[in-house]
Amino acid sequence: MEETKSYFCDELNNVLSCMNEKIFSCCSGQSGPVYYEKYKNEKISFDYFYKIKEHALNILASGCIDNLPCKNCFNLREKKANDEISKTYKWINVSHWTACNCGCTYCARMNDSKGVITQKPVKSEYYDFLPLLKQLYKNELLDRENLTACIQGGDISVLKEFKPVVQEFLKNGIKEFHILTNNITYQPIIKDLLDMNKAALVTSLDCGTRETYYKIKRVDKFNDCVNNLRKYAQSPHKDRINVKYILVENKNDNIEEITKFIELMSSIGIFVVEFSIDYKYVLFTDLDKTPLPAHYKDLFIHFKNQCEEKGISLSMWPRVEHIVNNYLLKKEPV
Ligand code: SF4
Ligand code: SF4
Repeated sequence: MEETKSYFCDELNNVLSCMNEKIFSCCSGQSGPVYYEKYKNEKISFDYFYKIKEHALNILASGCIDNLPCKNCFNLREKKANDEISKTYKWINVSHWTACNCGCTYCARMNDSKGVITQKPVKSEYYDFLPLLKQLYKNELLDRENLTACIQGGDISVLKEFKPVVQEFLKNGIKEFHILTNNITYQPIIKDLLDMNKAALVTSLDCGTRETYYKIKRVDKFNDCVNNLRKYAQSPHKDRINVKYILVENKNDNIEEITKFIELMSSIGIFVVEFSIDYKYVLFTDLDKTPLPAHYKDLFIHFKNQCEEKGISLSMWPRVEHIVNNYLLKKEPV
């Protein structure tokens, strides 16, 4: 008789994602166990979080995953003898608001923000993160020494509590920040974190020209973003800056724009760029049934070659890398 496999998920064990209303375990584009479907500033407890995590990991360990969303998730792996349920979280995603100061055509948050473009810093439409963060520390749910906080905009400057949240993390203990921002507004605190080697900064520029930027982002802020990048690139730890190019159909999916983007990054002194693809393909399309546009293969190869030529490192989100290797570069059977 075939032995039942036992599974484990490091995301579920280590990650806490605080999104709009929902607080859940993984932010992999899949849907794992949920702690709060609609969080409304409730008082939290250690036991509440631990029991949900323990229950979910025990189900994975039992191997009964046929009806779970985890079943086809690329984060699922076989359980090892030394895998233990962690009492704390090592990675926290903070993305509990949707207001933004631009309107990217590919925005996955657009349904929630209803396309409203906000210039002034605002409160989250859902809940305040700062009181929740204080409770998470108080309940010893965060691994102070090894914790990474991934704060994800829009422009993080649009969130009123951005700076107090960063300060609270620093006060209580954190290893580092991953800051994802559209970089329209310069934030001195981000430069300070970069200088302290306490942060990685990720931003999507997606182009090398003002015209294409406007087509994708629907605001005329290309020059601001480039100037801000130049300021951050003064940091001695500028190797922690990663600038993304998300391929968007009929907007920036051409060789010329990619060449201009890489040239611009080289002139600013950016060391790392990221190749990505519109989320409609990465997260919401069955690529076995609906293939990626055929020219994406050549665009990826051009992107890669340009990076090599300029001595810039090419990075990819594991999910995109999986798509590039298994769909874009897949060899036809002979
Ligand atoms: S296996 Fe995937 S869907 Fe399930 S908890 Fe892990 S990351 Fe989430
Ligand atoms: S910067 Fe982010 S949140 Fe803002 S519109 Fe673009 S994708 Fe959406």
